[in-house]
Amino acid sequence: MSCGNPHATPCTEVLALVDVFVDGEADEVHVVAITAHLVECPPCARQVAVVRDFKAVIRRANSTVAPAGLQTQIRARLQQTTIVFGQAESIERKPDA
Ligand SMILES: [Zn+2]
Repeated sequence: MSCGNPHATPCTEVLALVDVFVDGEADEVHVVAITAHLVECPPCARQVAVVRDFKAVIRRANSTVAPAGLQTQIRARLQQTTIVFGQAESIERKPDA
């Protein structure tokens, strides 16, 4: 994916850093270089937009809250369960009282 034009920062370098850039974890030098590149290169700008949108969808999906009744059931089950670390088969459910 490239617009075919030469850039100071190659498309391959920009695309390799898309996740880091979108997550706001790129260093300042790369942020400046990638931002300048995106102005010049519509295919890379689209790729960044796709990744940004995808991550936004994932964040929204992860923020879904279980209904109160389900939360209560999960908490009750967790309180009834004992896990003994180091013994995978030692996940026990206490008898329902
Ligand atoms: Zn590009």
